[in-house]
Amino acid sequence: MGIVVQKFGGTSVGSVERIQAIADRVIKLSKAGESVVVVVSAMGKTTDQLVQLANDISDQNPDTREYDALISTGEAVSAALLSMSLISKGQDAISLNGYQAGIKTESVHSKAKITNVECSRIQDELNLGKVVVITGFQGFSSENNVTTIGRGGSDTSAVVLAAALGSSECEIFTDVNGVYTTDPRVEPNAQKLEYISYDEMLEMASLGAGVLHPRAVECAKQHGITLHVRSSFNEEEGTRVKDRSMEIQHPVTGVALKEEAKLSITNIPDTPNIASQIFTALSDAHINVDMIIQSNQEDGFNDISFTVSREDLQAANDILESVSKTLNAKGIISNGNISKLSIVGVGMISRPGIAAKMFSVLGENNINIELISTSEIKISCVIDSSEGKRAVQLLHDAFELG
Ligand code: ASP
Ligand code: MG
Repeated sequence: MGIVVQKFGGTSVGSVERIQAIADRVIKLSKAGESVVVVVSAMGKTTDQLVQLANDISDQNPDTREYDALISTGEAVSAALLSMSLISKGQDAISLNGYQAGIKTESVHSKAKITNVECSRIQDELNLGKVVVITGFQGFSSENNVTTIGRGGSDTSAVVLAAALGSSECEIFTDVNGVYTTDPRVEPNAQKLEYISYDEMLEMASLGAGVLHPRAVECAKQHGITLHVRSSFNEEEGTRVKDRSMEIQHPVTGVALKEEAKLSITNIPDTPNIASQIFTALSDAHINVDMIIQSNQEDGFNDISFTVSREDLQAANDILESVSKTLNAKGIISNGNISKLSIVGVGMISRPGIAAKMFSVLGENNINIELISTSEIKISCVIDSSEGKRAVQLLHDAFELG
């Protein structure tokens, strides 16, 4: 039999009772003859609390090595507790931290990439009939320092381990039943998807469908590992993220809404090296820019509009103020009250008219579109946030996702 890799997120290990319930679930699988590797996140909001402590004690500027040494401990707690619970229920088990599990990373702190996994210890423990419980979110560098791989990184740990251990599927247990056509809190008619492709999932994840960490999806795609996103609170099948070769029934798979902020810099010269100055300044300040639209005016001038996360609005605005002086721009317009509304689907590649339909639905319902951008499998419109919920419901309906 193969090796099953299961990852349990923060809410799934949020209490002693939850950990015991997971232990029961793991034991069932182990009794059925499977070799089980479990990857855990920190309990509930533990990591947030650790980050807070680090900031409090260091005037918001913690030493990066010690920061990782600290925030990696949340996972150590849940791994040891789960392993203890398994043992007390009669199941042989062992917890391993990133170092013991052989998870090597770059020598960077707080956002290191995993470079490879030396699985011999894991294999040895599995061969002894143990369930192996591994701390997510961390590894060690070539200098033998503890490193962490970025917030929400346990999904990625699990996928990397699945790849290293030769598993073709990785189960991601969370507090929702799977991936939905849209946020069920916005549209009660949202449906759980049986399958979604890696590319669609990547789009949905970066559009704010927070069930999976985008890097985990990328890594799964690269290694051809199916991700099974499901709830740890029931036995239901969830959503499988994998390559979809079968005929796609619907042109649109999902609708997503993400709150953002919009900035425009107007009347800048239409000459080389202008956009580079603006976006280099933003990137130097670590501001992530999302949509970028440049529109040409007749008289040799351009307007450039782009979106950023709302937390970055003020900082981005300050940077534009200073850049605009050098560029002789006419003005800056900023709006912190917009949302990016997107439809996603691999099925739209072969079907014309999907964009037209989206725009018609919005137009007929008097919802103004401020910016438009597209990729092969996505169409996004910036609209006023006050219309966000209604727009999602209208599109969900129009594309028959309910
Ligand atoms: N505990 C870490 C975090 O909260 C990693 C994870 O949950 O995936 O970011
Ligand atoms: Mg988490």
